[in-house]
Amino acid sequence: MHTRQELLTDLGRQTEPWDVLVIGGGATGLGAAVEAAARGYRTLLVERADFAKETSSRSTKLVHGGVRYLEQMNLTLVLDALRERGHMLRNAPHLVHDLSFVVPAYSYSSLPYYGVGLKVYERLSGKLSLGHSRLLSRKSTLEMLPGVKGEGLRGGILYHDGQFDDARYAVALLQTIGELGGTAINYVEATGLLMEAGKVAGIKARDCEDGADFEVRAKAVINACGVHAEETIAFNGRPHDSLLAISQGSHFVLPRSFLPGNTALMIPKTADGRVLFAIPWHGALIVGTTDVPVETKTSEPRALPAEKQFLRDHIARYMGRAPRPEEILSVWSGLRPLVKKGGVKTSKLSRDHTILVSSSGLITVTGGKWTTYRRMGQDTIDHAAEVAALPKVPSRTLELKLHGWTGQSTSANSEWECVYGSDLSAVQALSNEDPSLDALLHPRLPFRLREVVWAVRHEMARTVEDVLARRTRALFLDARAAIESAPTVADLLARELDRSEAWMAKDLESFVRLAKGYLYEE
Ligand SMILES: Cc1cc2nc3c(=O)[nH]c(=O)nc-3n(C[C@H](O)[C@H](O)[C@H](O)COP(=O)(O)OP(=O)(O)OC[C@H]3O[C@@H](n4cnc5c(N)ncnc54)[C@H](O)[C@@H]3O)c2cc1C
Repeated sequence: MHTRQELLTDLGRQTEPWDVLVIGGGATGLGAAVEAAARGYRTLLVERADFAKETSSRSTKLVHGGVRYLEQMNLTLVLDALRERGHMLRNAPHLVHDLSFVVPAYSYSSLPYYGVGLKVYERLSGKLSLGHSRLLSRKSTLEMLPGVKGEGLRGGILYHDGQFDDARYAVALLQTIGELGGTAINYVEATGLLMEAGKVAGIKARDCEDGADFEVRAKAVINACGVHAEETIAFNGRPHDSLLAISQGSHFVLPRSFLPGNTALMIPKTADGRVLFAIPWHGALIVGTTDVPVETKTSEPRALPAEKQFLRDHIARYMGRAPRPEEILSVWSGLRPLVKKGGVKTSKLSRDHTILVSSSGLITVTGGKWTTYRRMGQDTIDHAAEVAALPKVPSRTLELKLHGWTGQSTSANSEWECVYGSDLSAVQALSNEDPSLDALLHPRLPFRLREVVWAVRHEMARTVEDVLARRTRALFLDARAAIESAPTVADLLARELDRSEAWMAKDLESFVRLAKGYLYEE
C-alpha cells in the first residue's frame, strides 16, 4: 500500500483526466470506487476527513435485509439486501459473520406473527440463507438470552442475520481500490467543481493537512458525500436543499454482562414503532438504535437527551435494569442521509438509494444502507459510464474478494484479530521485529501496539483519532479506555510519521476533546 504522500505526489504528476472521480470516502463512495476500478476505469477517490469518519463508522453493525422493511412490504429492498448480505459474507468472511438473533415474545399471539415473518425473511434469502429460523420455548429463549426479562415471557423466535465491523470493512475497500489500480486519499477536500461549457470537468481540491489548493480533472464526477450531498450539489451554483431528510440514530455500549452469551436480542416494535437491537460486538454489547429527525449535519453528532432516555428505558424494560452511568462505556450517534418524500416520518422513509444526474453531469448517489453499498456502486458506475461515455464494461464486483479475504483459518488469538484476515500473520510479525509491540494498548481493550504501527504503515491512519476510532474500535467500545490509551498512540504515531512534539500534543488534545463527547453524561 502506498503512503499518502506517495499518492499525492503521483496525483500531481497525472496529466490525463481520471475516468471516474469520487468525492466522499464512506461506504457509498468507497463502493463506487471499487466498482469503477474493478471495471478498469482510472479511478480517484478523495475524502476530506478519514475514510468512514462519518455515518459509515456509526452503523448498528448489521449486514441485513431489514426485517422491518419486510413489515413495510418493501420486498425489493429486502431481496436485494439479502442477496448483498450473502455476497458480503462470501467476499469478506474476515469482516462479516453470521449471528443468531432471538426475538423474545411476551404474548402468545406475537409468536406466530413474528415466526411467520421471520420464516419468510429466511426463505427470501434462498441459497444465501444463513440458517433456519424457528420458534423457541420460554426455557430455550432464556438459555439463549440470559439477562433478558423473564417476567411475562412466552417464548421466542430464533433467526439469523449478518454482523460486521463497518470501519474495518471500509479499510478493506480502501485497500481493494489500491489493488485494483485505483487511488483513494484521505484528508483531501473537494472545495468546488471545475466547469467546462456548462459541464463538470473535475474538482477544485484542498489538502487538509497542509492547506495546499489544487485541481483534478475527471470525465465523471460522483458526489458520495452522505448527509453533505446537497452542499456538493450546491457547488454547481444551484442550491439544492430539498433532497435529504436527516435522521439521527444513537447507540449505547454496555458490558457484555447485560446480555451474556453470543446471541443478539431483537425487539421488533419499540414504543415509537422501531426495531431495537442489543448485539454482542468485539467483547461488548451495542444497544440501538433510535430515529430522530435532525436539522444539523455535524460530523460529530451527539445523542440527544430524549435518545438517551429512550435507550435507558428500553434497556431497563428488556434487560432487567437501567445501566448505571459508569456502565455505559461509549455513546455514539450517526446521521442517516434519507431521500425525502412529502411529510413522511424519517423512520418510515425508504432505505432505497437514489441516483441523480444534474444537467452539468454531476452524479449524486445517496440513501441506501451499508449492506447495499456494492449494488449502489454498480448502479452509480453504470450512470457514470453513460454520462462520461466510458467504454462499457460489465460489473464484476458481485464475486470480487476483498482485501484480507482468506479461505483458510488464521492464527487469530482473539475475535478482534480476525478482522485482519490474510494480513494477520504480517501484523503479528511486527512483534518479532520489536517485542514491545506485543503489549496490549489498554487492559480493557483487545488491541495491541503492533496494530497501531500497522494502521500507520499499511492503512493510511494519520491521527490518534483514525487509530482509536476506526483502525481499532477503541473509542466505540470504551471511550474512557480510548482516552487513557491516547498518549501511547500519539507517541507511536509521532515516531512512525516523523512528527514533532508540538504536532503530537495538538493531535492528542484534539482527540481527547472529541472522545469526551463519547462519554455518557446525564
Ligand atoms: C445510526 C445508524 C445505524 C445504521 N445501521 C446500519 C446497519 O446496521 N446496517 C446497514 O446496512 N446500514 C446501516 N446504516 C446505514 C449506513 O450506515 C449508511 O447508509 C452508510 O454508512 C452511508 O454511507 P455514505 O458513504 O453515504 O455516507 P458517509 O459515511 O457519511 O460518507 C460520506 C463522506 O463524504 C465525506 N465528504 C463530505 N463532503 C466532502 C467533500 N466536500 N470532500 C471530500 N469528502 C467529503 C465525509 O467526510 C464522509 O466521510 C445505519 C445508519 C445510521 C445513521
